[in-house]
Amino acid sequence: MIKVNKINKYFYIPNELHALKDITLHVSKGEVLVIIGPSGSGKSTLLRCLNRLEYASSGEINIDGENILSATCNINQIRAEVGMVFQSFNLFPHLTVLENVSLAPISVRGKSKAAADQRSLELLTKVGLADKVAYYPGRLSGGQQQRVAIARSLAMNPKALLFDEPTSALDPEMVGEVLEVMKDLAKEGMTMVVVTHEMGFAREVADRVIFMDQGMIIEEGNPEELFSNPKNERTKLFLSQIL
Ligand code: ATP
Ligand code: MG
Repeated sequence: MIKVNKINKYFYIPNELHALKDITLHVSKGEVLVIIGPSGSGKSTLLRCLNRLEYASSGEINIDGENILSATCNINQIRAEVGMVFQSFNLFPHLTVLENVSLAPISVRGKSKAAADQRSLELLTKVGLADKVAYYPGRLSGGQQQRVAIARSLAMNPKALLFDEPTSALDPEMVGEVLEVMKDLAKEGMTMVVVTHEMGFAREVADRVIFMDQGMIIEEGNPEELFSNPKNERTKLFLSQIL
């Protein structure tokens, strides 16, 4: 489903920085990959390269057989097919919950309002927010807003979903409700790449965990292996600091 082959990413401003170094990874259909690593290790940059919010400087990225670095690739289509959920929910404050979820299916996919709204209502029910469809985001808790953001991504029927620290901005009591929605998605077979510090989630849901440091993949394994028996010294040090 997602095939990343030796990508590199350089930033030139404010200073030259080699942010991703020869990253190779494959994510199969239905797989949940969790990425962990210290601040600045390149986790977000890697995720953003996967739907071309950042353009990889070299290497290859194939999503479902399509080379997304090709000049002929339709970037809007890629973004619709590879959804992204951010730490800050980025909902439109002037639109209701329902309108937030229906917007892209109507404007990008050309769905009728009635069809889009019906699907949005189904998705909002799925994430436990059927009673909030008419609310504006400002009246929702952080956890509720993040669940709307997930429903909004799902409304595009993505082939894969990327999550960049989706619970980091939430008060502790709201983390669980968002993780539950993510667990349900994983169970239903959604292909997911998740940057998170929630090690409980990683242990329970991840098929594979990748540890990154300084723009490189340092270690990779199933969660049990990686958390209980890390092989690399940097992985050990990182885990000892967060577990
Ligand atoms: P965190 O855990 O703090 O979110 P991260 O692992 O997600 O960290 P990235 O955001 O991917 O790290 O950043 C990797 C490196 O690339 C950092 O040194 C960062 O300063 C740099 N970087 C990221 N985005 C840009 C950008 N748009 N321009 C210049 N440098 C950038
Ligand atoms: Mg980040």
